[in-house]
Amino acid sequence: MHAKAIMVVDDDKDIVRAVRLGLENTGSQAHDFTDPILALQHVEQGCRQCEVLVSGVMNEKYSSGSPT
Ligand SMILES: [Zn+2]
Repeated sequence: MHAKAIMVVDDDKDIVRAVRLGLENTGSQAHDFTDPILALQHVEQGCRQCEVLVSGVMNEKYSSGSPT
């Protein structure tokens, strides 16, 4: 079994960082991105570890009207 990583994508770099640190604290690897395009390129360029995509975590924080 190869190590797996969880891809974390959110446009808020503080959220991405917090999620990544949380994952690392549980022993998981995390590859974090603030730009979905960069995340896609990361996979296309050959990352075989990212198997779980976490996108828009904590989006409910912005549900009170902020446009994406
Ligand atoms: Zn990766």
